[in-house]
Amino acid sequence: MKKLFIETLGCAMNMRDSEHMIAELNREESYELTHSLGEADLILINTCSVREKPVAKLFSEIGVFAKSKKEGAKIGVCGCTASHLGEEIIKRAPVVDFVLGARNVSKINEVIGKKHAVEISIEFDESAYAFADYRTNPFRSMVNISIGCDKQCTFCIVPATRGDEISIPSELIVQEIHKSVAQGAREVMLLGQNVNNYGRRFSASQESCDFTQLLQKISEIEGLERIRFTSPHPLHMDDRFLEEFASNRKICKQIHIPLQSGSSRVLQEMKRGYTKEWFLNRCAKVRALAPEAVISTDIIVGFPGESDADFEETMDVLEKVRFEQLFSFKYSPRPQTAAAEYSDQIDSEAASLRLARLQARHTEILDEIMDAQAGRVHSVFFDELKDNGRCAGRSDDGKLVFVEGSEELLGTIKRVRITKSSRSALDGVVLEG
Ligand code: SF4
Repeated sequence: MKKLFIETLGCAMNMRDSEHMIAELNREESYELTHSLGEADLILINTCSVREKPVAKLFSEIGVFAKSKKEGAKIGVCGCTASHLGEEIIKRAPVVDFVLGARNVSKINEVIGKKHAVEISIEFDESAYAFADYRTNPFRSMVNISIGCDKQCTFCIVPATRGDEISIPSELIVQEIHKSVAQGAREVMLLGQNVNNYGRRFSASQESCDFTQLLQKISEIEGLERIRFTSPHPLHMDDRFLEEFASNRKICKQIHIPLQSGSSRVLQEMKRGYTKEWFLNRCAKVRALAPEAVISTDIIVGFPGESDADFEETMDVLEKVRFEQLFSFKYSPRPQTAAAEYSDQIDSEAASLRLARLQARHTEILDEIMDAQAGRVHSVFFDELKDNGRCAGRSDDGKLVFVEGSEELLGTIKRVRITKSSRSALDGVVLEG
């Protein structure tokens, strides 16, 4: 039995790619996971390139790996930074044994035996590849429904690291979910850069199927209780999709709608393809169809040329939509992106002030939302046992809930009355029946 140390940075798609690599490795040899660098036979770091910081962190991490690894152990750099730096990683850190790009995950067994192998092609198409099975959590599964992205958002490096968008055949997706349900999963998270753009292009001709139809197919799977998905794009939020979101009882009423900026002028500079008005219209539609739904979002502040007035538009959308979860960042110029060349870069201090103001106001909104949970009853799916003997789960709208309980709660959905709230989680008691 070999030992594998794997560190995953970045998004849910990277987490699923790491699961795929573990699964594929175990096709050829037996690996067990270890948290000890010193006992690992193979050390993998699955990287993220969405901002500069993770990239800078990579080379210091490699230094730590090199110092701690045992004789003969191998180091592999995978993911988005592998895709865009490629050979440069080997040049800067020859201790690295191989580099495997985010679109070449299925080649892990090929590169492991080749010293200084670099497999980073973003043309490589593994959309129809049936990966072996591995899941970090037996009660819920993450399933990719597409690879890559066809958009050209001017701040985003993803198209350069994950390539063009190709949808995964619907029968492969349904098969994978059936298998995971047969092994105990009750919830699935569908993953893609733009999930609601599903079905625009497959690598081989197949019966047409868009995202709404895919959701309908998946919700017919016996034993599957809950469906989540990330990320939909505001541009593809047609009424049919939102009506399915609202009326399909298996679809969790939590939706992530990346805004990025509240200013239509900045959205145009970002090439996001929609306006503030369209975004607000879609959020209002979600609220009209599913008043209980929780909306979360991504926001970038300090995008080149962003004026005080532009930023006020972002604050205005925050006030109007009152997002429950907010992922917000200062703009970070990325290689191979158009905006990195824009002349009117914003002063970092000014961007920090805007970010602080946005996050402070969001925290107030979040506190109001969480304080209002006391006494409410949520339907919670339990999927984790904590060391302190408490059981953790998520409500239908995505809130983290803890109760007193033990493993017989795992994999079940229970009604829970909320007794206490904090900014990040709720405490409650399980109601009988
Ligand atoms: S939609 Fe835009 S932000 Fe999202 S992955 Fe594609 S290019 Fe990046």
